Amino acid sequence: MKTIEIKGSKDKYYEVDLNLMTCSCRDFTYRKCHHEIGSLERLCKHLKEAIIIVDKLKALHFSSSEERMDYLTRSDLDQGLIEKIKTDLPKVMDSIDDIILYRLGDISMKYSVGRVPVLPLIILPAYDDRSVRCSTVSSIINGLKEIGPYDLSISDMSSDGSMKPDRSVIEILSKKVVGHLSTLRILPILAGYNFDYKSLFYTSSLEFMTKLISISSRMDLELTGSGFRTENGDLLGEEWTESEIFDYLGLPYVDHDDRW
Ligand SMILES: [Zn+2]
Repeated sequence: MKTIEIKGSKDKYYEVDLNLMTCSCRDFTYRKCHHEIGSLERLCKHLKEAIIIVDKLKALHFSSSEERMDYLTRSDLDQGLIEKIKTDLPKVMDSIDDIILYRLGDISMKYSVGRVPVLPLIILPAYDDRSVRCSTVSSIINGLKEIGPYDLSISDMSSDGSMKPDRSVIEILSKKVVGHLSTLRILPILAGYNFDYKSLFYTSSLEFMTKLISISSRMDLELTGSGFRTENGDLLGEEWTESEIFDYLGLPYVDHDDRW
C-alpha cells in the first residue's frame, strides 16, 4: 500500500503509512513513534482515522459489487443473453485501446432502475474528446455486432443518424429503449454524464478514496456507492461532473490515471 494523505486541521495534509504505521505529523514524529508497532499508543489521530476509513472502504467496495450482481440476476432480464454478453464483452473491450474501464449493469444508473429491462454498459473512455468518444462507441457497436447477434445500431445513437456520445445520446437511447420493452438493449453511458460522478467511487485507489473521505467527512459528507450524501441523506450535486465535485471539496482536479 502506498502512503495515504489524511487531512489535518486547517489545510494541512499528513502522510500516513499503514504498513510501517507511521505518520508525518508532529505528534507522531516527536512522541508516538517511540511506541512499538501494534501498540495503541503509537496511533496518532491520523493513523487512527486512516485505519477506520480503510476498513470501511473495503466493506463498501464489497457491498457495491454485490449490488451490481443483484442487478444482473434480475428476473426480467434475459439470463441467457446476459451470460453471452458477459463472455463477449471482454473480447470487444480488450481490443479497444481508448477504454480505461467499463462496467456491465449497475442499479445506481438513472435509466436502469425499475423502468425497462435495460442492461447498461458503462464506459470510461481514455479521453474526454468528442471524436474519440464517437469512435469508441462505433468500435464497441461494431465489435459486438461481429460477435452477436445483438440488436444494436449506430442510427440508434441519435435521431439524425450521427454519433453524439454526450448527454443527448443518453436521452435518445433511453427513449428508444422505452419503446422496445421486450428487447434487451445495451446502453452505453459515457463520460460527461452520471458515470463521471459515480466513477469517483469506483475508479480510484484505496489511498485516493481514503483521502477523499478524510476531506469530505470534515464537510459532513459521506461517500457511498451512489456518490456523496449530505447529513440529511441527499445526494450531493447529482448532475455535477467530477471536476465540480473536486472544486467543492477544495481539491485540484486529479485525472483518473493519477488516482492510482
Ligand atoms: Zn498523525
